[in-house]
Amino acid sequence: MDKKRRDFLKIAGVSTLAGLGGATVAGRLVSGSSPVQARAAHVVDSAAQEAGHGAPKAEAGGHGATGEVAKSGNRWGMVIDMRKFREHPGLAEKVVHTCHSIHNVPNFPDKKDEIKWIWLMEYENVFPEHSHYFKNKELLDHEVLVMCNHCDNPPCVKACPTRATFKNKDGIVAMDYHRCIGCRFCMAACPYGARSFNWRNPRDYIENYNREFPSRMRGVVEKCNLCAERVALGKQPACVEACGDTKAMIFGNLNDPDSEIRQVLKANYTIQRKPSLGTHPSVFYIV
Ligand code: SF4
Ligand code: SF4
Repeated sequence: MDKKRRDFLKIAGVSTLAGLGGATVAGRLVSGSSPVQARAAHVVDSAAQEAGHGAPKAEAGGHGATGEVAKSGNRWGMVIDMRKFREHPGLAEKVVHTCHSIHNVPNFPDKKDEIKWIWLMEYENVFPEHSHYFKNKELLDHEVLVMCNHCDNPPCVKACPTRATFKNKDGIVAMDYHRCIGCRFCMAACPYGARSFNWRNPRDYIENYNREFPSRMRGVVEKCNLCAERVALGKQPACVEACGDTKAMIFGNLNDPDSEIRQVLKANYTIQRKPSLGTHPSVFYIV
């Protein structure tokens, strides 16, 4: 293992503490002598100075990472209807392909380098708190589509020492790749494995480059952005559009009682991933 990677892992190893204490603890922990640690400490200091105090703040006017559920304005959310995916074999793979192509997600040949914005996982691993002894065969036979939950109380935001990840006032947990120092605190803090790290230059592994969306660089973390670039233009997320008329994914404003997503939530029993953690995911599942 090379030194740089060892440094990353050393820092990531203390990330739980960083998640608990924010920039103050993180700043102390990364103030070692290696170049990576020194860079992390420098950026922590700059972020703290900019904020005027020790802890990074969420976007002004946003929900912050307080666990408070905002009740006005847009709060974007998603419903994933697993019944529809079971009815339409191949649809989930189409969704993954669409999202990854549009967002220049690289396709690394080695699985350990994999970058995922949306992907498939076994039911039991997606919903460990919802497992039961005698499982329905349909659930066992079909993997579940997972993505960043755009949590209302996102631990990744609290853990980031540079404010490279933050929550927008519409609930989207976003990233500024240029601020990311590759410490991977956010990855360790996310209980859903929703973040991936670019160990290599992703630009060498993009199959069909989309010039309308920025690519990332080696040494940064990335994840689903809930198609913020499309939502800002009044469009549906690409994954939702890829589902066509199936209604396998429904996107909308959770704060609007008349929105389609609220009607679907009202009419169906839905579950969220690992609800006991108090992250308040904005992605709901009909199983
Ligand atoms: S799923 Fe993970 S990456 Fe996404 S907002 Fe929640 S904690 Fe952050
Ligand atoms: S919302 Fe956009 S970025 Fe997120 S999984 Fe869907 S297509 Fe990908």
